[in-house]
Amino acid sequence: MNVLVINAGSSSLKYQLFRMEDASVLAKGKVERIGMDTAIVTHEPAGGAEFHEVKEILEHTSAIRRVVELLTHPQQGVVSAMSDIDAVGHRVVHGGEAFKHSVLVNDEVKKEIRRLFDLAPLHNPAAMLGIMAAEAAMPGVPQAVVFDTAFHQTMLAQAYLYPVPMALYRRHKVRRYGFHGTSHKYVSERAALLLGRPLAELKLITCHIGNGASCAAIVGGQSVDTSMGMTPLEGLMMGTRSGDLDPAIVPYVMGKEELTLGEVNSMLNKHSGLGAVSGISSDMREIVEAMEAGDKNAALAFDMYAYRLRKYIGAYAAGMNGVDAIVFTAGIGENSAQLRRAVCEQLTYLGVAFDADANAVRSSAERRISTAASMVAVLVIPTNEEWVIAQDTYNLVQGLS
Ligand code: AMP
Repeated sequence: MNVLVINAGSSSLKYQLFRMEDASVLAKGKVERIGMDTAIVTHEPAGGAEFHEVKEILEHTSAIRRVVELLTHPQQGVVSAMSDIDAVGHRVVHGGEAFKHSVLVNDEVKKEIRRLFDLAPLHNPAAMLGIMAAEAAMPGVPQAVVFDTAFHQTMLAQAYLYPVPMALYRRHKVRRYGFHGTSHKYVSERAALLLGRPLAELKLITCHIGNGASCAAIVGGQSVDTSMGMTPLEGLMMGTRSGDLDPAIVPYVMGKEELTLGEVNSMLNKHSGLGAVSGISSDMREIVEAMEAGDKNAALAFDMYAYRLRKYIGAYAAGMNGVDAIVFTAGIGENSAQLRRAVCEQLTYLGVAFDADANAVRSSAERRISTAASMVAVLVIPTNEEWVIAQDTYNLVQGLS
């Protein structure tokens, strides 16, 4: 069975076609600048030459039609006809409280995703465009939706509620949802395999550290806490997002700087984090380069970033009353030996014996960066959110037959 995974943004769409039998990626690519007469299509068939084109693509349905043409093209294609695409899996950021698992798309599901537009105004409408477009371009092909929030629906009220008037929860669903769920789920399952122990016995802290960053406390394979909250702004310091701050800063700064709600929202989401503190870049590679060249602001941004992550690891070890393994994943977690070292060398109190040599090795493989004697294992596990979406879609479609 072949499953097409789609991650739709408001003006872009990324895709991967998986052959489920051997977990191989047959092709992947993206369409950018949808809505313009100069949209950019990039298509990478496995083992074939990368294909690029610039053409008019005015909406998502045309984008998906073009993707299907490329996937079935005599030269650039990897399957012979649309009937070789057995199902489509969509990434949807917010599933609210309604979706605790991935589901097949039907009218009720679409209605519910629309009801959640308020909670994820940038992301869910874009995902809905992708769903509607795939339905139009690929009629009769089953579609599934996989939510970033669903994995965290196992959190208890003590973790997901905020200590504010409960009417806000009842009326407006103000609570912690958490994000990056497919990634936290994937790396926690891989960690159990790598450790050779049943997931059901493990207490894990998974750190998804990319442009967006969150960590999760996972007991027996179930998320019990996570650092992102009602929105992906809470928690760790990120590339352009502040993460945690005193909520009173918001009205204070709005008054002093005469900012509107939109402006303060934009400041905290787009003009904060690594970029704001360093004054150089929101990209960790550039921060590390500048720090190594002696830039003090870059060093401060790096230190704040590592310190805040270390505090979360401590909090989650406390919350779970122990931890068996800490997992690093995503762009920074997988690639920045400096960041991992800055975090882990100060976790000796937890029983972490960090292996600096193993940490320094550049590799894209799953690996352990703690010594054999370490009481808490530290692992680097490349994430694969698309594969989780493909697998969930496959399992749901299997249930249809
Ligand atoms: P992601 O959102 O998962 O794609 O991660 C993007 C982040 O990963 C950016 O901040 C990049 O700077 C960072 N990143 C990617 N490669 C490296 C690297 N080799 N060293 C440090 N950071 C990296």
